[in-house]
Amino acid sequence: MSANLYPSPHIAFTSAENSDIAGSFLDINLDALKRNYRYLANRGKKADCAAVIKADAYGIGLEQAANALWQEGCRTFFVALPKEGARARKILPQATIYILNGLMSQQACGFYQQHELRPVLGSLDEVDLWQSHCATTQTDLPCAIHFDTGMNRLGLSLKSAHLLADRIKANALSFTPSLIMSHLACADTPLHPLNTQQLDKFRTIRALFPDIPASFANSAGIFLGPDYHFDLLRPGIALYGAQPVNDHPNPMNVVATLQARILSLRNVTKGDSISYGAAAVTNRDSRIATICVGYADGYIRAGGSTMQKDGAKVWVAGREAPIIGRVTMDLIMIDVTDIPASDIAPGTLVEMFGPHIAIDDVAAAAGTIGYELLTSLGMRSERRYHLDHETD
Ligand SMILES: *Cc1c(COP(=O)(O)O)cnc(C)c1O
Repeated sequence: MSANLYPSPHIAFTSAENSDIAGSFLDINLDALKRNYRYLANRGKKADCAAVIKADAYGIGLEQAANALWQEGCRTFFVALPKEGARARKILPQATIYILNGLMSQQACGFYQQHELRPVLGSLDEVDLWQSHCATTQTDLPCAIHFDTGMNRLGLSLKSAHLLADRIKANALSFTPSLIMSHLACADTPLHPLNTQQLDKFRTIRALFPDIPASFANSAGIFLGPDYHFDLLRPGIALYGAQPVNDHPNPMNVVATLQARILSLRNVTKGDSISYGAAAVTNRDSRIATICVGYADGYIRAGGSTMQKDGAKVWVAGREAPIIGRVTMDLIMIDVTDIPASDIAPGTLVEMFGPHIAIDDVAAAAGTIGYELLTSLGMRSERRYHLDHETD
């Protein structure tokens, strides 16, 4: 198969081999990631800006993201799990790396120490584990302390915060926390009353630990304004280009673009059903393209259409087209009736999300959020990392 047989306005293959055998392509623009970091960091006038790179940097690739963010000046990173931290440590020998999910066990302490990872301690029990590890090894290892201000997920209560503050005052803590933090539950909804309630609580807690830097804002929290910034911003999703705040224009650059190849085209008559369960039926004579991507590539199955519900849109030959019928494991059908036949052929690449189709719109059509779509992408698509000057 020669790529020339399958002309497409979107084709920009990096390797002839892969271009001939891949069904879908996940393009990651690392310069866009860097610009997003710079944009968020500039919003924090006095605050430093960290980066959350958990879950393989929200699916775009932990190593690549970590490297690009370090180049852009990021020095503090958050992951969820110790193993993610060890991976990040290999790429980032000098960075500060926090493990959001805290300390799983006494035995885990050695792993943190070995890889110079800082746990985000989420309960007094975890504080005790770290304390006893530091005492046994005669070390003063840095860590963060997480306080719960309204998520009810991880973190010390206000009452525990007082107990901890008393311990510090009495010099009864054998290590020095390097960060205190809390996490917002509703930052993506700026007018939600929980935002200011959490802020008030966090201010109270912060006053108990005046000498320790504080971190509060995730991506959406950054946009709530400087009151929410404290000393260290902690964005994740906005770095990767998804919309941080609901019902607001998205100021972030697109980082991830998913494209899939058209495999075949067929004409169907009005009333024919498409895909499994015959859940969608054409209401006119239609032209249907079958494209080489499915839920096993991470494209959420609920993004398909049924007679009751529209599905997600795709972008093909300079226009929008709808998904028709259920998303299957390896394949999706789209309705290309309104697209001039001469503009598409087998091999044409279809944008599933990217510059023309917002990842958040696809997620919404599938009843989910950009976070879940990004972190579902997996490894089956052919991944290509770009810098600005290499794209189109
Ligand atoms: C995931 C996470 C973040 C990043 O949140 P985004 O909404 O992706 O910016 C920040 N802090 C904590 C505790 C998290 O779990």
